[in-house]
Amino acid sequence: MKCLLCDKGLQTELTFTSLLCLKKEAELVCESCLSSFESIGDNHCPRCFKKDVSINCQDCQFWCKQGVKVDHVALYSYNQVMKEYFSRYKFDGDYLLRKVFSKILQTELKKYKGYQIVIVPLSEQRYKSRGFNQVEGLIKETGLTYLDILVKNEVEASSSKNRADRLLTEFPFFLKDGVKLPENILLFDDIYTTGTTLNRLKSMLLGAGCQNIKTFSLAR
Ligand SMILES: [Zn+2]
Ligand SMILES: [Zn+2]
Repeated sequence: MKCLLCDKGLQTELTFTSLLCLKKEAELVCESCLSSFESIGDNHCPRCFKKDVSINCQDCQFWCKQGVKVDHVALYSYNQVMKEYFSRYKFDGDYLLRKVFSKILQTELKKYKGYQIVIVPLSEQRYKSRGFNQVEGLIKETGLTYLDILVKNEVEASSSKNRADRLLTEFPFFLKDGVKLPENILLFDDIYTTGTTLNRLKSMLLGAGCQNIKTFSLAR
């Protein structure tokens, strides 16, 4: 078998235990790639987990001004190998890669007692072209229950506005019809960049009557 990220051959030791336990996830990705994923560590923005910032970062100050109290946790920094991972997973459509982080995600997400996991959806068009929602794939592998109660419209490319303008003016997400909202929600996404998706969704869900919302992403 080859490493799904770098194509190096994987040495699979067939020990008695590994035979009993069937396949370990680690066998999808080589040791060297695995060790290149960088945990965010202890020095991060207390609100959004931005690395190497010990006070509220600029992104969080922006959200504060928008009336959103950021309450986010991320596990890994969005470094080169993480970019490579998502490029393979999302754009090359390597659905097997959803399994790489299932153990750690399961452990970390289980800590949110009393919170319902809600996944960030793709637009229908994107879903059709990719064949899967990579966010859902990550959660599904953990075996935890989650809700798929949001819908995303395709954001039309309009030539008169730049990307930032569009993000600010048009919000493509809404709730599915007839959904009963849980009181406590853990919004889950794959990557947190400036927090636009998660924090605007949070705002929307609080407006719709949710009591507590925390956000979580694999990478930041
Ligand atoms: Zn590798
Ligand atoms: Zn921050």
